Amino acid sequence: MISNRIGRLELSPTLRISAKAKAMKGEGIDVIDFSVGEPDFNTPSDIKKAGINAIENNFTGYTANDGIPELKAAIRTRLKQDHGLDYSAKEIIVSCGAKHSLYNLFLAIINRDEEVIIPSPYWVSYPQQVLLADGKPVIVPTREENGFRITPDELKANINFNTKAIIINNPGNPTGSAYTREQLQAICEIAVSEGLLIVADEIYEHIIYDGYRFCSIASLGEKIREKTVIINGVSKSYAMTGWRIGYAAGPRAIISAMDIVQSHSTSNANSIAQKAAAEALSGHKAEISQMVAEFQARRNFMLNKIRRIPGINCYEPQGAFYLFPNTSEYYNTESGGMKIRNSYGLSYYLLKEAAVAVVPGSAFGADQNIRLSYSTSMDKIDEGTDRIIEAMTKLTESPKYKRVALQNVMTHPRGMTKSELEISVDERDVLVQEAENALPYDRYFEWNANINGIIIQLRTNVPHLYDFWVENWYPAQLESDLEPHGIIYVVDGVPGRTPYAYYNPDMKTAVMFNTSHYGQVRSWALGMTAQISERLLDVHGIRAACLDFDGRGLALIGPKDMKRGSTFFSLLEDGKAKFVTNDWVFVRYRGSEAIADAPERKFYFKTSIAKKFPHYARIFDRSKCENVVTTRADWTSFDDSGEECPLDMGEPYCYWGANDSRAMVDPSWIAGPTGYTKRTRLNKIAIMCFEPNSPAVEKLKEADALDLITEGRYRPQSKAGMEPYSTQPFFNPYMLSSSVENEDLQRRNFHQLFRVADVYKVNIAAIPGEAMKSRIRELMG
Ligand code: PMP
Repeated sequence: MISNRIGRLELSPTLRISAKAKAMKGEGIDVIDFSVGEPDFNTPSDIKKAGINAIENNFTGYTANDGIPELKAAIRTRLKQDHGLDYSAKEIIVSCGAKHSLYNLFLAIINRDEEVIIPSPYWVSYPQQVLLADGKPVIVPTREENGFRITPDELKANINFNTKAIIINNPGNPTGSAYTREQLQAICEIAVSEGLLIVADEIYEHIIYDGYRFCSIASLGEKIREKTVIINGVSKSYAMTGWRIGYAAGPRAIISAMDIVQSHSTSNANSIAQKAAAEALSGHKAEISQMVAEFQARRNFMLNKIRRIPGINCYEPQGAFYLFPNTSEYYNTESGGMKIRNSYGLSYYLLKEAAVAVVPGSAFGADQNIRLSYSTSMDKIDEGTDRIIEAMTKLTESPKYKRVALQNVMTHPRGMTKSELEISVDERDVLVQEAENALPYDRYFEWNANINGIIIQLRTNVPHLYDFWVENWYPAQLESDLEPHGIIYVVDGVPGRTPYAYYNPDMKTAVMFNTSHYGQVRSWALGMTAQISERLLDVHGIRAACLDFDGRGLALIGPKDMKRGSTFFSLLEDGKAKFVTNDWVFVRYRGSEAIADAPERKFYFKTSIAKKFPHYARIFDRSKCENVVTTRADWTSFDDSGEECPLDMGEPYCYWGANDSRAMVDPSWIAGPTGYTKRTRLNKIAIMCFEPNSPAVEKLKEADALDLITEGRYRPQSKAGMEPYSTQPFFNPYMLSSSVENEDLQRRNFHQLFRVADVYKVNIAAIPGEAMKSRIRELMG
């Protein structure tokens, strides 16, 4: 649960822009920051003095959890004088910023899966906080022509039995839109009659323009007041973001629940800042008016300039200090190879091209827009908007982007689960019973695969696994009296079970719980088939990539990171070799021949190969895919290498952004109708290794080759970034047994192989990729 929560938090891309902006400062042109969310004014000096006095008077201990009486009194006075609202001290709590007040509130009111209606565009933290409290954010898009305000009909349409609350942020971040008294009344009456709580985030109440009259929701009548929690703070109105003081006013029961939550997390807000906030709320109207007048002038100036950009339409805000222009007209453009497809791409482009940091609208649930803050000097606004205008004029229309609807499934987990390989028959029976019980008749998939003559049956409730299974293998008959040699159960969604896989070697039964990842299903199917066919048919399963050179076969054997894959694909590139398999063959030894068959119909490819060989991307576009990166949050591989993420450039997905993405690929799509053969005679074996100071290619004697393969020895001396591998017998991670009997059998089989084929050790430490390719080609003659 914890990791889930953290995962969710990482979804907001807002911070990444700022980090990049910082990184660019060294490049000679200063980034103009339009992404800030705080007033660029100083905290008024009397307020600062109140803080200093507090220190000097040693007001530095714990305070009452819910706030010092003096500050609560100031809050009550403000609410009374500004909005005619009477709140008792027990109906108010002071927290570490309005953000903290909101968080306390959600933790205090939400039960699991209760819904909170959030009109979008929304302030970034609302949905995340609701999720953190185990609630369900219900995002209701508003329309620009309605001033980005939720309408009564839109609200009604989204209420159900689980709806707990609605958030009204007035004036709103990021749009700056504000509700009139009448509009609020209509919304609140529905909320009250439907029994919803109203979360009224009024943090921008004072930052309003053009004579707009702010109305606090709770002042709309006693019934509404009873259902409202006001959230406010001193961050915005008094330029005090860093002091971290916010507060909530609402029904006593809710405030006291928030008090309890807070008492177990932060305790009271900072004592010194509370004194300063009490000072702030007791006066300083003149400073607020001055600041707001300055904001209004900047708003007008920036709005005028932004509206003059062709194709850009910008809503005129009545409050806060942001513009939220609609930039979607520019989403099919490009400049210097950089393609703009969405708000993230445009923001990235503006950062790179114009050195202006803005926030993509997608962070607020509105991809059509970007957010510009005018909380910066007139000079910077002038210069920054000029730079934006110049960058935008460089964008030319790019050919209409044809979005390929990628057939992609994100699995959970993304890789192998933990496993137990030698469970007893009794344990197997119990697990099979549990799996059968969890396979509902209306979501049950069964298919017999013919894996080199061995029949393995898949029974699952995961459509994705069934899909991949059927594509991966040749079919076997599916008749009621045909008994498979082995069965794999994969059951997802079993309550109380963590992802886990079990195998019983006697009954050849695998049971996997709560996984939808195909890789493990495939490798276990191969491992089971090998076990069966090695004992029953004297057919040997080898983890190897194979190519056929005019009837002579080459097998590349080697562990992970040994360039087996890229060597295989580069040998395939020049068209002299045929594709047999990228990963696995079954071999029969007949006299002086080792006949190798690829058991798969389609092949399970690592899609990262598209980075080195970009034409594979076109093939993956039409293949079924697993775990291909389509959101920035899923990008993992190259984050530390400073590499650019294609998603930032407006691409809808990336084939190499994660290590675990795969595609199910038809071999003829890669090699053409004549470039593929299912069978070859193995003639040469290359065992890939990394051994500095050893020759590049070394022919091995039969006995040495046998020792090497048995131990799976691999000792990289030292290479940065390469893990030292433990020994893996037979370089075969799919092996489902480590028994002595199995080892003897493997040795016997490999002995047969090495008698009929020449074995070489190919040392990647001694030859770079291209040279290795030609040395291997030489071996094949
Ligand atoms: N609500 C909204 C709408 C905001 O924009 C912000 C600040 N960006 C907050 C709440 C949080 O403010 P505080 O600094 O008091 O935590």
